[in-house]
Amino acid sequence: MKTQLNIHAVIPSSRVNGPGARLVVFFQGCARLCGGCFNPETHSFGIKEFLPIDGIFERIQTPVEGITVSGGEPFAQTEGLILLLKAARERSLSTIVYTGYTIEELNKIEAAREALKYIDVLVDGPFIETEKEPTLLARGSSNQGFHFLTNRYSKEDFIMDGKVEVTIKKDGSIVETGFSRVPFRAGFGR
Ligand code: SF4
Repeated sequence: MKTQLNIHAVIPSSRVNGPGARLVVFFQGCARLCGGCFNPETHSFGIKEFLPIDGIFERIQTPVEGITVSGGEPFAQTEGLILLLKAARERSLSTIVYTGYTIEELNKIEAAREALKYIDVLVDGPFIETEKEPTLLARGSSNQGFHFLTNRYSKEDFIMDGKVEVTIKKDGSIVETGFSRVPFRAGFGR
């Protein structure tokens, strides 16, 4: 049977989820329930959409330099996450993963350690509303750490100065995501 991932959403190309144009994959399901989470619709572990690995990459419409995995909690589906990251590497795409776990917690879990082998940058730790990121770094709160597990990127690559994306959903609702010095309606959960 082909591995399928329970996915909340796929953005074929985004410039506010790490360096360059990136395929962004939001996993469905997260038990951490951080106060003020930007994406509470991802918390339920009910089935949102089952997608095979190839089906996720088929969403790419224009060239991207990498994949960003967020959530929900990517490590709630670690086996599928490993396959997704391996497939990204096979396609010469860089890999960034946002997780509510700390890297210390992940290093205690064998399958999570395996996943870390395929990650260029891990952004770790829960979102803490009272420690909201005060700069334009691509993280939700300042307790979260950037772990550069390869030499592909550095912290400067995660300064998202002034970048905002606006998405109009099928139901007509508008979602704004990004990093701006002037306030806009939505925010960045992690
Ligand atoms: S911020 Fe991340 S870890 Fe926290 S509840 Fe939201 S999806 Fe889960």
